[in-house]
Amino acid sequence: MKKLAEVLQDWEAVIGLEVHTELTTLKTKMFCNCRLSHDDEPNANVCPVCLGLPGALPVPNKKAIESIVMAGLATNCQIMRHSMFYRKHYFYPDMAKNFQTTQGPVAFCMHGNLDLEVHGVGAAERPDFADTTATGEKINREADGSYIVPIRILRIHMEEDAAKMVHVGGAEGRITAATESLIDYNRCGTPLIELVTEPDLRTPEEARLFMETLQQTFRTLGISDCSLEKGSMRCDGNISLRRRGSAKLGTKTEMKNINSFKSLHDALEYEICRQAEVLEEGGVIYQETRHWEPAHKRTVVMRVKETADDYRLFPDPDLAPFDLSDDFINACAQRVPELPRQKRNRYVADYALKLTDAAQIAADPTTAKLFESCVKLVGVQVIPTVANVMVNLLPGYDTFAPQQIASLAELLNSDAISFAQAREVLDAINGTDEDPVRVVDARGMRQTTDIVALQTVVDEVLARCTDQVQQYKEGNTKVIGFLVGQCMKASKGTGNPKLFNQLLVQSLS
Ligand code: ADP
Ligand code: MG
Ligand code: ZN
Repeated sequence: MKKLAEVLQDWEAVIGLEVHTELTTLKTKMFCNCRLSHDDEPNANVCPVCLGLPGALPVPNKKAIESIVMAGLATNCQIMRHSMFYRKHYFYPDMAKNFQTTQGPVAFCMHGNLDLEVHGVGAAERPDFADTTATGEKINREADGSYIVPIRILRIHMEEDAAKMVHVGGAEGRITAATESLIDYNRCGTPLIELVTEPDLRTPEEARLFMETLQQTFRTLGISDCSLEKGSMRCDGNISLRRRGSAKLGTKTEMKNINSFKSLHDALEYEICRQAEVLEEGGVIYQETRHWEPAHKRTVVMRVKETADDYRLFPDPDLAPFDLSDDFINACAQRVPELPRQKRNRYVADYALKLTDAAQIAADPTTAKLFESCVKLVGVQVIPTVANVMVNLLPGYDTFAPQQIASLAELLNSDAISFAQAREVLDAINGTDEDPVRVVDARGMRQTTDIVALQTVVDEVLARCTDQVQQYKEGNTKVIGFLVGQCMKASKGTGNPKLFNQLLVQSLS
């Protein structure tokens, strides 16, 4: 098969995503009062409604409607004042009532959009001549190839999840060749929102970034834990190819079993290359659902697509049409917090953080909250160091109190300890409520910042290392590392490497 970059020269990839998100932060199911938890013993959380017993009547979960409205507002959707629940019929034991309650042509949220920011190597996946959005506007590239592209969202609708099935005795847990199938109805009736994009994405990287942006947004809203691994956020990738310059959409295939960001990217990449090969050999693409096999890095056919008519969709007579009031929508709007991108921009503007540090902190609400607690404890000039500590030192440890992080950042900022020593301090205070300052003093780690004393060491080292001084003057600036090392040794580790570096450069210029 040809490589992605080569394929995308001749073919335009057209990608649309369908993203299902379980509202995991709610306490109860979508249409009954059963507890929302998949960890309990199988079939512990069931009732006549979610088991579909005759005569049971569904009652919608108001908090779930609040969540979907917040999701719609955060993705610039129109919130529909009037919508309905429908029945989507199918026969399979994961839904005992033989239909899924979902929404019809009008969903709670319609016609939104998200601006995707595509930076770095991922930006290069879109060939530079392919510089228009799905609606024909010009895309402006930065010098490094980064670009922003708007992606339209068709709708976000409310539905319910099905039960979980476990197939026993067959290969790989699939139903084929299984001897028994077990059903756990705890998941049945879990509130689920499905977001459907327009086919506006053009590269696997754009799809991956879109999914990442959604995850960060929904987590910040507090409506779901959005775990691809655990399946609380699931994504189907739809993909077709068309010749560059052609406006007609090709036949699409739909990718399932995507449970990581990397899988989403790799499955789309594989499928683009596969379709190109079929088409270039004069074959046709069948509209089918395909299963991503990460171990083999390929997609295989699961089933050919059923048509919409098979579901016999009609309004659910047990659920009255929904009228959302302005008051309700305004109350939801009040509860939409500052979103990751706004937060990132504020951190850069107010605290002079590096863009990448700010983005990483703002991406996750728990991290952002911790950062903001630390910010209150330090002077404004120390804040970038707090961010640096959080992004580069904290990963890998459990949690630290804001006071501990603030105190460590101040030690670093005043050059009392080096970055390497900061790790030693974190190891020492990990899992305790110890103050870093105490550890530094108790271990005698504090480095001298007395410039006169440090300069004496620098002079001594320069007088001794004449070869390296010569090399430096001939343009080999890398020897500075060696000279810093000599200074550290001469000062028995009590000097600050950053200050030594500065003094050496000054002395040598
Ligand atoms: P289906 O009825 O097969 O589920 P939909 O029209 O509901 O198809 O679209 C599902 C998803 O597929 C949407 O995200 C949409 O943007 C995308 N999509 C539709 N047509 C195409 C196509 N030709 N190529 C790629 N993606 C497509
Ligand atoms: Mg669909
Ligand atoms: Zn129930």
